[in-house]
Amino acid sequence: MSTLLPQRLGVAAVAVRSLRRAPAAPGHQLHQQLRFLSLQEYQSKDLLRRYGINVQKGAVASTADEAFAVADRLKREGATDLILKCQILAGGRGKGTLTSGLRGGVKICSTPTEVRDFAKDMIGYRLITQQTDELGEEVNKVLVHEGVNIVKELYLAIVLDRSYASPVIVASTQGGMDIEQVAETDPDAIHVRPIDIDTGVSDNDARAIALALGFDDSCVPKVSQQLKRLYELFVACDATQVEINPFAITDVAPDAVMCVDAKIAFDDSAKYRQQELFSMEDESLMDPREAAAHKAGLNYIGLDGNIGCLVNGAGLAMATMDIIKLHGGSPANFLDVGGGANRQQVAEAFRILQADDKVRSILVNIFGGIMRCDLIAEGIVQAAEEVELKIPLVVRLNGTNVEKGRRIIAERMVNTDKKIDIQVIDDFEEAAKAACATIQSDVT
Ligand code: GDP
Ligand code: MN
Repeated sequence: MSTLLPQRLGVAAVAVRSLRRAPAAPGHQLHQQLRFLSLQEYQSKDLLRRYGINVQKGAVASTADEAFAVADRLKREGATDLILKCQILAGGRGKGTLTSGLRGGVKICSTPTEVRDFAKDMIGYRLITQQTDELGEEVNKVLVHEGVNIVKELYLAIVLDRSYASPVIVASTQGGMDIEQVAETDPDAIHVRPIDIDTGVSDNDARAIALALGFDDSCVPKVSQQLKRLYELFVACDATQVEINPFAITDVAPDAVMCVDAKIAFDDSAKYRQQELFSMEDESLMDPREAAAHKAGLNYIGLDGNIGCLVNGAGLAMATMDIIKLHGGSPANFLDVGGGANRQQVAEAFRILQADDKVRSILVNIFGGIMRCDLIAEGIVQAAEEVELKIPLVVRLNGTNVEKGRRIIAERMVNTDKKIDIQVIDDFEEAAKAACATIQSDVT
């Protein structure tokens, strides 16, 4: 494709990597400091529809009977086939398996009764796919669509790309399958086109992408229109990712394209101006620890370990997790209280850490800069009063107002009838060792 920039593999790899769906809760790994709002497919499609992008008719259902009702209505409105799809935040559903034993989280059905029967084996079970962990994700809802006849499955995505410092459109004729696999086995089949953030998708951009997708000239107008609308949505909604896989050509016409699957993620920093979108987030699907932290404005990611960490600064948080591992412990979370947290937030952080059954001790590691040590100490004391800290606490404080911080803790330890088990240790490594030691003595 001469009209596309020369294919730089590194760039495609970066763009493709950022397309990974949001990690599944619980038990996921630490991917990034920020979490991004992800919508379910049915919500993403409602949004696409608002921007005039082609999606199938359909509706979401929470019970098998509701799914039957939607299917029945679609049939009466002229649908031939019916598509039933599990709603989870991970991809690869079509090839996934449900804990009910049903194979396939996407089913093509011919009658509403069939829809109801499959829905019974989907709702309330977990769907395990290549993109979830081994526990899978719980299915609370299913989407019932009219079916379309697909002639060819293409791939289309708009993502923010660091190396271009702009949005890029990623296009491939190898749709319907995992794009990361395509990037590995057939990198030339992936076309990446950077889009000028000031001017948006030009006619040239749209045409080049349409041709790269294998359309001929007569199809360019309709395909371009859809591309431009997708880009309009991407910008207007502060999305970080709009992924359509498959972007399908249906049997209606050579230029009749349809977004058969959609995955959209949004930038958390834009929450203040995207309140409607963010209010759509289904918190029941979130790790409850993360939902609580999110509400308290804390930067928290749940992990599987047994040592709760309360740290300021993302770098120190990562280093703390590493050093815990080094000394035989395993971090229960990533938590960066940042520089702006107040005493209430710190107390709330302790509440969240202690509410986690797996957490056996808490390591506080604060290097006071903007965040003052005395404020953390007050948070600890407040938490000890309100939350009743029952698990051992190891505190390492250093930096701004460290003396005052230590004094606050020392006073609290003397003037109380409710005992808390606190060790204050100055050295980072010694503190980590002490936190790990509490676990070991606990086990034996
Ligand atoms: P994913 O497996 O999670 O990516 O879910 P998709 O929504 O992409 O569906 C998986 C596959 O099911 C698609 O790649 C299609 O091959 C197929 N599929 C989904 N909807 C339809 C439809 O309306 N008609 C046809 N013929 N196939 C569909
Ligand atoms: Mn898909």
